[in-house]
Amino acid sequence: MRINNPLGKFGLKDIVSVFSMRQDGNMSLCYGDTRESLENRKKFLSAVDIDYRDLICAKQVHGKNIAYVTQADKGRGALDYDSSISDTDGFLTDKKNLPIAILTADCLSVFVYDTTRPAAGILHAGWRGTEKNICSQGIRLMQEKFGSKPDELLVGFGPSIRSCCCKMDNDFKSNFPFGLINRDGSVYMDIALINTKQLVDCGVKQDNIFDPELCTLSQNEDFFSFRKEAQGAGRMISVIMLR
Ligand SMILES: [Zn+2]
Repeated sequence: MRINNPLGKFGLKDIVSVFSMRQDGNMSLCYGDTRESLENRKKFLSAVDIDYRDLICAKQVHGKNIAYVTQADKGRGALDYDSSISDTDGFLTDKKNLPIAILTADCLSVFVYDTTRPAAGILHAGWRGTEKNICSQGIRLMQEKFGSKPDELLVGFGPSIRSCCCKMDNDFKSNFPFGLINRDGSVYMDIALINTKQLVDCGVKQDNIFDPELCTLSQNEDFFSFRKEAQGAGRMISVIMLR
């Protein structure tokens, strides 16, 4: 099993950050073929010493609500979708051994780590969340809640649909002043690039952002893609946890 660690390049010890691949199976309890999802989660997370029953998951809605979670929330959305935290597209915590998760197929997952406090966050940024600037919301909440300093934060990205494949309606341009690419008369969006700019605008250092540059659609053999597979698409899971 390949372990993808988006914060790996920073050489950290006290944090687990990981995202799954297609080969690890569907991780959603709501979308795609969910029959083996619990077993997939169990197998995938045990490889990084996380108990899948501890996961905290959200009913994601492409918004920018971010929930601060503690031990009391442990296991919400771990074994059934209904117990997931509603109307939420990101989590923050400063509690150890609390795995917080986002599920994606094309959308970007953003892993944030404050080594000083320490504290961790995970955000779900599709184009709608990106339009609402969920990253700036996340950074602001970490400043308020934990006293985080943006220039000390470490950030990693999961796989997402990239500008090679992310074709948008031509009238889409008005929504984003940057990160859109005109090619062959069409508009393409680079979600990761826009989120990088939004993070840098918040004071995060460019060098502290790791982008694995993986496209879910181009590399569909390795990742689920909603654009490619529509309603049948499974989901990858992105998880961060303080040790
Ligand atoms: Zn692509």
